[in-house]
Amino acid sequence: MLFSSLYIPTLKECPADAEVISHKLLLRAGMIRKLTSGLYTYLPLGLRVMNKIARIVREEMDASGFQEVLLPMVQPGDLWKETGRWEHYGKELLRFRDRNDREYCLGPTHEEVMTDLVRGEVKSYRQLPLRLYQLHTKFRDEMRPRFGLMRGREFVMKDGYSYDADLNGAQESYRLMHECYTRIFKRLGLRFRPVEADTGSIGGTFSHEFMVLADSGEDTICYCRNCSFAANVERAPVAEKEAPALSPCPPAEEVATPKAHSVQEVSSLLGVAPESVIKTMLFRVDGKTVAVLVRGDHEVNDVKLCRYLGANEAELADPEEVRRVTNAPLGFAGPIGLSVPLYADATLARGNDYVCGANKGDTHLVHVDLARDCRIDAYADLRTITEQDPCPRCGGEVRLTKGIEVGHIFMLGTKYSEAMHATYLTENGTETPMIMGCYGIGISRIVAAAIEQNNDENGIIFPPNIAPFEVILLNLDVKNADVSAKAQALHDTLSSMGIEVLLDDRDERAGVKFKDADLLGIPLQLVIGRKSMEKGICECTNRLTKEKGSLELSKFADAFSAWQKTVYESWNRQSKV
Ligand code: ATP
Ligand code: MG
Repeated sequence: MLFSSLYIPTLKECPADAEVISHKLLLRAGMIRKLTSGLYTYLPLGLRVMNKIARIVREEMDASGFQEVLLPMVQPGDLWKETGRWEHYGKELLRFRDRNDREYCLGPTHEEVMTDLVRGEVKSYRQLPLRLYQLHTKFRDEMRPRFGLMRGREFVMKDGYSYDADLNGAQESYRLMHECYTRIFKRLGLRFRPVEADTGSIGGTFSHEFMVLADSGEDTICYCRNCSFAANVERAPVAEKEAPALSPCPPAEEVATPKAHSVQEVSSLLGVAPESVIKTMLFRVDGKTVAVLVRGDHEVNDVKLCRYLGANEAELADPEEVRRVTNAPLGFAGPIGLSVPLYADATLARGNDYVCGANKGDTHLVHVDLARDCRIDAYADLRTITEQDPCPRCGGEVRLTKGIEVGHIFMLGTKYSEAMHATYLTENGTETPMIMGCYGIGISRIVAAAIEQNNDENGIIFPPNIAPFEVILLNLDVKNADVSAKAQALHDTLSSMGIEVLLDDRDERAGVKFKDADLLGIPLQLVIGRKSMEKGICECTNRLTKEKGSLELSKFADAFSAWQKTVYESWNRQSKV
């Protein structure tokens, strides 16, 4: 393929509104363009990358016995009412009416539509298991679309669904998908980890997320250095260490803490450790205000809070509400005397003699004993695990790291099949709901995640299997007929070897071509010009390691294959976790 014949509008400048590196580089490399918030157009190179990812996903899904179908993107509201999600899904669901005033939505996910298909077809246990998937555009009216392809409103997802007769079958479907995803992310050349995850609004009994490891990830994952435990911190349970023996706590008393709002300020003013300070955080949980207490060195985990209270949504109360409930300026909230429900993190029960806000400006209380001084509604695991906590499985040391969620598999149980009457007849004629699983992969998010994980100051470094081309061949002397003929010949040789080559035949300065080649991230770079031709060689660079070398033109095909092998080996080394 000739560079001059492809639409690759690269940019020299970094677009101002792009925050993360993948977004910047995708725009600069001419791979995507923004239409409006959360909506992107894929240009030829970006689409090639996405199609390569899609192809690997399809091959592995097919190999796992899932069959590809294509469901409508527009979905009738009535189906969503059957499962109750018309009410519960909230504003991410984009709803509209047709000319006959019937309600519809754009599909953010397809449990309802797929289950509607299956309940109409499957009647007997003989037809199960049924395992289907599609690759399709989803629409979610995200509260904060951001980071380019990472969190779009319209995005491409692979979504798969399994219908089984019994729990063993459903576990087998889940296992197939866990293995399938592991193969997919290995083939994509990404460093990743499957982790235990929260089931969130989709519901179900258990789930795993597949995380691409990258410092810019929005998720934090926790893993054990000793055993195989790995979980999203949203879910990772905190295992309490043995409780220390407590000495009696003197009576509580007020102390003046002028302008000391934060845990840091209070602890340095009073000369106590942050773990002796209690943070009192007010949350709105499904519209009701509650207070959550954690130690000063810990963070409230809103996902655990939701799960504990069986709620859909928890967010920090706004300053107005905090002032109203505490009757004090911000920064001085405390549990004693509050009229809202009080939930304390379990770790707090293992200590006493705490400092907390006094619900009074510039004042804190010292020598607080929660059991003695206030009425806690419940103690529960409401905080995020830290590296100081033991592994909840083996007691070993844990580490935290950042990740980007690129895939999520759920064991759904009968939540949807019961609500939608997706039943079958067992061998002895009993009507039974099917057991479901659902399995998503963010195809377009992977494009961004791959770049977040693999880039340098010069641009993208694509893993070979998903690069838009495997080889970029720079012709540095396009006006020289001999060089151009040689460049074309090398291009044709590689093509005949089944290798995708982008030949930069543009009449541009060498510097521009080198810069663009690095920016586009094509893993194998070849350079031919008058000088190298005189020496009978073509220069080669491994985009990943920057190692340079030369390939003899007289035995080009063999020399290229040998070099290509070393480049792939460097990728195999780097994609190990
Ligand atoms: P997140 O927590 O990031 O919002 P989710 O839990 O809502 O993700 P799922 O419903 O499990 O995501 O969707 C399956 C996959 O689709 C995710 O693992 C992710 O890769 C991708 N995905 C979800 N939302 C978006 C989005 N707004 N833009 C791009 N990809 C997305
Ligand atoms: Mg989401």
